[in-house]
Amino acid sequence: MNRFSYARATDLRDALAQHHGAPHVAFVAGGTNLVDLIRVNVERPVRLIDITRLPLKSIDETPAGGLRIGALVTNSAAARNRTIAERYPLLSKAILAGASAQIRNAATIGGNLLQRTRCPYFYDTDVPCNKREPGSGCPALEGVNRMHAILGASEHCIAVHPSDMCVALAALDAAVHTDGPHGARAIAFPDFHRLPGDTPHIDTNLDRGEIVTAVELPPQGFAGHHAYLKLRERASYAFALVSVALAVELDGDAIRDVRCALGGVAHKPWRDFDAESMLRGAPLTGDVVRRFAGALVRNAQGRRGNAFKIELVTRAVVRAFQIATGRDFRSERDDG
Ligand code: SF4
Repeated sequence: MNRFSYARATDLRDALAQHHGAPHVAFVAGGTNLVDLIRVNVERPVRLIDITRLPLKSIDETPAGGLRIGALVTNSAAARNRTIAERYPLLSKAILAGASAQIRNAATIGGNLLQRTRCPYFYDTDVPCNKREPGSGCPALEGVNRMHAILGASEHCIAVHPSDMCVALAALDAAVHTDGPHGARAIAFPDFHRLPGDTPHIDTNLDRGEIVTAVELPPQGFAGHHAYLKLRERASYAFALVSVALAVELDGDAIRDVRCALGGVAHKPWRDFDAESMLRGAPLTGDVVRRFAGALVRNAQGRRGNAFKIELVTRAVVRAFQIATGRDFRSERDDG
């Protein structure tokens, strides 16, 4: 483990000034992923800036009728918050599906956004990994890739984003608020995380020295019809093979609006806006839902260890619609 210096920031301005966009300087709050990465020598900061005392721990109504969740709110506090549980239950359920109670008590909303892949090769400094050492190679392409991506991957990296919370935030059309050397800004959720392309070592579109200050939820929380379905190797404390965050608004038997994000399948929470558009105004039937599920994986690429995920996604999406709407598509005549 490398030696590093440690400093505590007193407020946001102090944190930004202490970082100053310098290389190998990291903000730390819950540390539930960063400290692990430092221990195994994957992250080698020269300086850690502790931001746990910054005033980013409140959950506030926004003038637009949504909710703003401070970046230092813990995962547990967010999941237990009554307003979130009542108005955005999809988010509460996704958070509670992740990690363990102990980790959720320490992990923060901002840190959850920034956690890194759990690809085992990434954590093993004895093997190459393009995400850890750009240009060194990707042993997962032909190696153990059961947990890896089927959508949006590249020949440089097939890792997946590990968060459950982020899948729900993607489905809810959240925005990420930041502050940094170039001032404050809001980043639409689809633009926050990146696909690997030929720069798999860069996970997000944050600038160096930029800090996440909050996540903003729009007014529509889809409390009436939603589902977070997580399929994993065991019932708790396991990352998703495939997860589905589904939010539906019905108009009688028709779908008025829908948002569907997938986890465990790509380098970022996966939304397919073209596929979603074919559902708006369509009748809620098994045929329609299955066609949508098939469209989501039309460009999927499976490998030896993870090709099963393509079928798993289609079945999980249909199941998520059943949970969210209470409909049993198996009983429909058009079900075949
Ligand atoms: Fe590294 Fe990505 Fe390949 Fe995993 S999938 S070994 S993180 S380059």
